Amino acid sequence: MVIKNAPIGTRTTAIHAGDGPDPVTGASAPNIVMSSTYVVDEPAGFSAHDLNDDSPFLYSRWANPSVASLEKKIAALEGTEACLCTASGMAAAAAIFLTTLSAGDHAIVSDVSYAGVAELARDTLPRFGIEVSTVDMSDLDAVADAIQPNTKLVHTETPVNPIMRLTDLKAVCDIAHQAGAKVSCDATFASPIATQSAKLGVDYVMHSVTKYIGGHGDAVGGAVAGSAEDIRALNLEAAIHHGGVMSPFNAWLIARGAATLPLRMKAHEETATVVSEFLEAHPKVTKILYPGLKSHPQHDLAKQQMQNFSGMLAFQVGSEVDGDAIAARMTKELEIIHYAVSLGHHRTLVFWMPTEGLMETSFRLEGKQLESYRDYAGDGIFRLSVGLEDPEDLIRDLDRVLG
Ligand SMILES: *Cc1c(COP(=O)(O)O)cnc(C)c1O
Repeated sequence: MVIKNAPIGTRTTAIHAGDGPDPVTGASAPNIVMSSTYVVDEPAGFSAHDLNDDSPFLYSRWANPSVASLEKKIAALEGTEACLCTASGMAAAAAIFLTTLSAGDHAIVSDVSYAGVAELARDTLPRFGIEVSTVDMSDLDAVADAIQPNTKLVHTETPVNPIMRLTDLKAVCDIAHQAGAKVSCDATFASPIATQSAKLGVDYVMHSVTKYIGGHGDAVGGAVAGSAEDIRALNLEAAIHHGGVMSPFNAWLIARGAATLPLRMKAHEETATVVSEFLEAHPKVTKILYPGLKSHPQHDLAKQQMQNFSGMLAFQVGSEVDGDAIAARMTKELEIIHYAVSLGHHRTLVFWMPTEGLMETSFRLEGKQLESYRDYAGDGIFRLSVGLEDPEDLIRDLDRVLG
């Protein structure tokens, strides 16, 4: 977005991109357009194939003004030409996979990822004749070795759920692009404030906007940002044919949250830094994984690739202490922090992720890949999404349940 030819800052972009005063009423805040259909001036084609960039709004599965406004905001924050919002983060992942891959194609997918994405890649894609290799994306040689002549997509995630391992996006994009493959990155943990993934070469920047972009834990949604051409193809397949579109009400809520994203990310980082330093010094904590700490094994890459270290961290309590018992105590005794899945909200959330269970259900790693996972996670980790409360209150809550 450009105002009088001067590029505008991130905070201004987050607030103003995609919306403006209502031309009819002068309303300063955006309306919600709930209409499913639109009255048109002249006859128009009934297939999505008849749509082009100049088409008016026709039907809300094809395009909706409230959703389009959020899409413009996210594209502006990511610095991409376009964005498609979807019903959920999983719908965004499915949109990328099922648009870019066909029977006979090969995809390289991060060996650790959001569990739903891991299961989609391992269980669903092969049913449609798509070959999948799972690779530790922090190992660039392993990425290069996994490339095949039919590799069409490399899907990564950084920082990766739940172990906070990072991927060097520029390096992975160089490897993939040389082989003619596209790159998608699940940037949910980073948000557009921490990492401008498209500038590093990522073709499809994916978010669960349920998390940081929405930021308030009250609306589920997903997004994919990229070039106008790639996003047009995604819209045709994923929105119009598969139908996983975002509701206008959710788009309105998420856009309201996105307006404060830069300010929230700054506060998430500040509080997570204080909480991670407390945990690092705690006698019960044997390992803490926060990209902003010097002790993170990829701290140098974090400094290079992340303009904000975000509010996500993970910690181990070691094999001497029973993680299950601490998790059970958390569910009963936490006073401020919520023991709950999800992340990126103003409320702090914590969840215990035992390694063995996740290996069975989702990641199924062996050998070197399992070793790397266990290096980060041991027998299990507590995933902490540091919210926007006062750090001293979070520390008191954690100290009490860690005992
Ligand atoms: C939550 C999450 C998803 C899935 O998003 P939903 O909105 O829950 O469908 C995907 N990737 C990451 C990293 C997530 O945290």
